Amino acid sequence: MTRLLVVEDDQALRRALAITLRARHYEVDTVGDGAAALRAAAATAYDLVVMDLGLPDLDGVEVIQGIRGWSAVPVIVLSAREAQWQKVDALDAGADDYVTKPFGMDELLARVRAALRRAEPAEGNSAPIVETPAFVIDLAAKRAHKDGREVRLTPTEWHLVEALVRRPGVLVPSTQLLAEVWGPHYERETNYLRVFFAQIRRKLEPDPGRPRYFITEPGLGYRFEP
Ligand code: CA
Repeated sequence: MTRLLVVEDDQALRRALAITLRARHYEVDTVGDGAAALRAAAATAYDLVVMDLGLPDLDGVEVIQGIRGWSAVPVIVLSAREAQWQKVDALDAGADDYVTKPFGMDELLARVRAALRRAEPAEGNSAPIVETPAFVIDLAAKRAHKDGREVRLTPTEWHLVEALVRRPGVLVPSTQLLAEVWGPHYERETNYLRVFFAQIRRKLEPDPGRPRYFITEPGLGYRFEP
């Protein structure tokens, strides 16, 4: 049984989330504030936490930091559209993904499934081959093909592509990409990412002007949509 914790102070939304998730055969506990969330997460080994950021007692970001003190449980954040900075803080604090209110239940369910899939231990040690209708990326051989022809990626492009395709569907914050690929003092150089993703899209996207696979989340980061 997959156990989920829903943290949401809006009673109507909390109930709707519980009903929707239980209908998909998840076991669901719900709490309405941050202190109860920390108590619940400490008492039970949940498989996933859905966390509203605007809570009456604690900031949702503080709750995530608290949970991250002892647990790697996937956390999906629910946040208001206007609270862009809060999403960044939540991702920095260790949230895995976010959904912006108002959201459709189908969207949330897709994110839940994706987060649970990512949390599963990787099968074997083999680096995967990522295949889309537009291109094929062999992470082990470090080769990319588009329309049957080999695409040459520079080491930096390769590093960025790999950072995203290894986490399909996951928003990877710009700061994290910059730190991973360029190093610790580059977190603010988001223009690097714009330049490099333009090159990557030219090489791999079917329509580089309208990216389908390497998606920019403005102000936040990048996501590979398989
Ligand atoms: Ca709220």
